[in-house]
Order: sequence, then C-alpha cells, then structure tokens
Amino acid sequence: MEILNGKELKKKKLLELKEQVLKLSQPLGFAVVQVGHNEASNVYIRQKEKMAEQLGYEFYHISLEEDILEDELIQTIQELNEDEKVHGILVQMPLPSHIDAKKVQDAVNPEKDVDGLNALNSGKLLKQEEGLLPCTPSGIITLLHAYQIPLCGRHAVVVGRSELVGKPLALLLLNEDATVTICHSKTEHLEQYTKMADILISAVGKKDFIRADMVKEGAVVIDVGMNRVDGKLYGDVKYDEVAPYCSYITPVPGGVGPMTVLELGENVYRAHQKQLKKTFDR
Ligand code: NAP
Repeated sequence: MEILNGKELKKKKLLELKEQVLKLSQPLGFAVVQVGHNEASNVYIRQKEKMAEQLGYEFYHISLEEDILEDELIQTIQELNEDEKVHGILVQMPLPSHIDAKKVQDAVNPEKDVDGLNALNSGKLLKQEEGLLPCTPSGIITLLHAYQIPLCGRHAVVVGRSELVGKPLALLLLNEDATVTICHSKTEHLEQYTKMADILISAVGKKDFIRADMVKEGAVVIDVGMNRVDGKLYGDVKYDEVAPYCSYITPVPGGVGPMTVLELGENVYRAHQKQLKKTFDR
C-alpha cells in the first residue's frame, strides 16, 4: 500500500507555480469574499491567505456582515469583476440562508471564477471546453496523475453527487475515459458498487463511512471527507481498517485537502492567463 501524499505534492507544485508567477510583470490579485464569521470558514480562508502569501499574490479578504442584502453582495462582486488588480474571486461558502448562493456564484466573472463553480464554467466542463475547473475534483485528478495511476477503462465509483465535488469529479473521470458510477444517499446496496471500484472516491461527509468490507482488494481509495469530531479532523474512510486492502490511499489530513488549495493557486494563475489572452485578442 502506498500513501498518496497530497501535502508533499502540493509543496513541490507550489514551487513550480511560483517560478511561473515570478516571471509575470505584475502581482496577481486574489479576492475572497466572506459573509458573516463562520469559524470553519475562517480556518479555510487562513489556508487560502497562506497559499497566496507563498505565491506572492496580493490577497484581498472582503469581510461582510451576516445581514448584508443579496443585491449589496452582488454589487461588491461586480466591483471586483471590474477591478483590474483582482484576477481571481472566490465567494466563501456557506452563505447565510437569505442569500441565493447560485445567483452569487453566477455573478462572478467566469474568467475570475477560481472556484470553477459558476454556470458557464460548469457548462464548459460538461462540453469538455477549456474553463476554470472546481479545485477539489481537479486536485484529485492531479494527484492520480502524479502517481501515474491509470484511469482509462478503469471503474471509478464516486460516492457523493454534490456540485462542489461529486458531479464535477465524475465528469473529469469520464473525460479521462474511466467508467464511472455515481452513488448517493438513495443508492441501494451501496457496498455492491463500492466493492466493484478500481478507484473509490468518497465525498460524503461522514466519519468511518467507508469500511474494509466495502472495498475491493487492491483498490485506489480517495478520501475527500473532512469531518471535525471533538476538534480532530477525520475523513470518510475508516483508515486503519481500509488501508491494508488498498494499493493507494489518501490520508486525512494531508491527502485531498492540500491538493484543493494547490489547485486554487493554479486557478488564479490560469485566470490571469485567460484575462491576458482576452486582452490580446481584443
Ligand atoms: P454534500 O454537499 O453534503 O454532499 C454529500 C453527498 O454525500 C451527497 O451527494 C449525499 O447524497 C451523499 N450521501 C450522504 N449520505 C450518504 C449515504 N448514506 N450513502 C451514500 N451517499 C450519501 O458535501 P460535499 O460538499 O460534496 O462534501 C463532502 C465531504 O467532502 C465533506 O466532508 C466536506 O467537508 C468534504 N470536502 C473536502 C474538501 C477537501 O478539500 N478535502 C473539499 C470539499 C468538500 P444526496 O445527494 O442524495 O443527498
């Protein structure tokens, strides 16, 4: 069994990316918009700020009050869309319930949408056109490629169908010519599917959800889950029990999480490249 070490790969790839960033004539700007003061969001934003610092990006943390109106939030995003110093924009989720998160995501200029979640970028993924991809799914593909794990023709089973992880990941795997099965909370006899997986990805959000008797011997197991219990972080996979059966497995922490942050850094750079190209094409 080999560990898929996202932490190490992120370190290596951030250095490579920094070399590219240093060649640019202007600093890149990355804006994170936060509404309210959700504790978990604060932690994720600090990780993003650290990544931005490592890459020499200008980091703009726009912190807005919990009771901000949807129109006011969209107005703030439109100002960032217009701001030439800002190359990437991310709206930190979750948003308060009085705000329509999809409407807000769609307000981000698709060329600055470093979360890859607005409708245009989702459509481009579906049509296999070049756009900005959501960070966790693309980070998983980067990790699989780095360890030269073949995807073509292999059976990938994705547990979870969220717009953030499960659905885009299933499409990316399909684009890699994997045979893809998507499971969710209404799937009957889940273990029958998971046991058939050459590559099993769990994006459910429940500690100890994937147990050894659900995994085929020699499978590659990717654990997306991030479950905080008594202040400690756990994945979805019962790691000690499952690891001996796998050919490869991601740890939590240190697997998919760092890859997500890396891809975000990459997306800010890619977004800038797209904006540059558009300027030249004009
Ligand atoms: P989500 O929106 O809550 O989606 C969870 C998915 O799991 C849903 O599709 C749900 O099915 C499915 N599910 C729930 N119970 C199930 C069951 N008993 N059997 C089969 N499927 C079941 O969550 P998410 O945003 O995709 O995130 C999933 C996990 O990944 C969370 O722990 C999150 O914190 C973590 N995450 C980690 C990263 C990272 O960088 N490592 C990034 C993003 C998310 P239905 O659709 O039928 O409800």
